Amino acid sequence: MSLEHDYKVAISSVLQTTPDKIFLYWKGRVGLFALLKAKNIDNGDEVIMPAFTCVVVPNAVLYTGATPVYCDIDPATLNTTLDIIKKKISSHTKCIIIQNTFGLSSEVDEITSYAREKGIFTIEDCTHGFGGTFNNAPNGSFCDASFFSTQWNKPFSTGLGGIVMVNNPELLQPLIEANKGLIKPKLTKSLMLEILIFFRKNLLNNTTYWFLLRLYRFLSKKGLVIGSSSNDEITSTKIPENYFMASCNTQAKHGINALKHLKPLLVLRYENSIKYNNFLKENGKIFYPENLLQNHSFLKFPVFVKNRNEFIHKAEKQKIQLGDWFVSPLHPLECELTPWKMEMSDFPVAYEKSLNILNLPSDTKEPEKVLQFLSDNINDLLNASNTN
Ligand SMILES: *Cc1c(COP(=O)(O)O)cnc(C)c1O
Repeated sequence: MSLEHDYKVAISSVLQTTPDKIFLYWKGRVGLFALLKAKNIDNGDEVIMPAFTCVVVPNAVLYTGATPVYCDIDPATLNTTLDIIKKKISSHTKCIIIQNTFGLSSEVDEITSYAREKGIFTIEDCTHGFGGTFNNAPNGSFCDASFFSTQWNKPFSTGLGGIVMVNNPELLQPLIEANKGLIKPKLTKSLMLEILIFFRKNLLNNTTYWFLLRLYRFLSKKGLVIGSSSNDEITSTKIPENYFMASCNTQAKHGINALKHLKPLLVLRYENSIKYNNFLKENGKIFYPENLLQNHSFLKFPVFVKNRNEFIHKAEKQKIQLGDWFVSPLHPLECELTPWKMEMSDFPVAYEKSLNILNLPSDTKEPEKVLQFLSDNINDLLNASNTN
């Protein structure tokens, strides 16, 4: 059988589904777009989503002609809630996107049952949640369909890559129909991906990290190397050329291999994050309450600092690799958001969180080093009482 089929078998075994319910794409956002197309989401339709997401999510909606309708978030979970969503539902609402944020899909069960009663389609943005569980069921298994990403920093990586899991069988035929429009990636594109994966595996270490990260960002901005997002994609709301792209064998090959190492990685992320959480709690800083821990898979661990740039700078000196999701309610846009139909002042919690957030590495082999760094800079962290 083909590499793609073997990859689908490996994916479906983690997600506890069957390979025929799994579809592969060049990126996660392409899978989302395919789902919206399969549901005939169009001009005049509204799609509900959190105001704390990646700009490529509203972009996929805008490309269909539909309107993104944003919901503010709960500061404890960094996710939106059923109560907030209910207030945003109108006669035009066709779809609700429920996001797994940093590994947590809070209220996904309640939101999905509510939407089902109302006849509204649900998609889980499970780009942070592959391999985790919610109330003991696999992340991604609650909504009508879900999409996953295997981009560099996601639960497992194929460089770039997207997966869709269909849970509602009525969606299978329309999605297969929509997928007929997919463009095959050129051989040069797959080769470039192969080279980038090689570089990352063999040259990326704690010494070269900052240099290579800057180089990659610079080259992908210039369009000289395939990046996660082209410059056009984050400065406009028009669909980029060759957006609707299929996956390739390079992704399948690396995916099969990466999935073999996923279990210990999930354990490491969880154990490190519990250490971070205990530390923050003991020191009166913002932490996750006990009841949220069981359903969290901690792709990254969010912390909130007084001065982000200063904190990043200090961390770099100590060679601590911090992430910067979500520096904006529509990450990574730090500009006027009206072209994306968002008025930032309407989402005070998301906005405030985006000003102070950074992410600790949950997959580090040296959590003590991170804890020591936090301890040395404890006064730079926001107190729990400030925002919780
Ligand atoms: C990464 C990410 C996406 C998009 O995934 P791609 O594979 O890069 O298209 C969507 N939503 C969120 C929340 C993400 O973090």
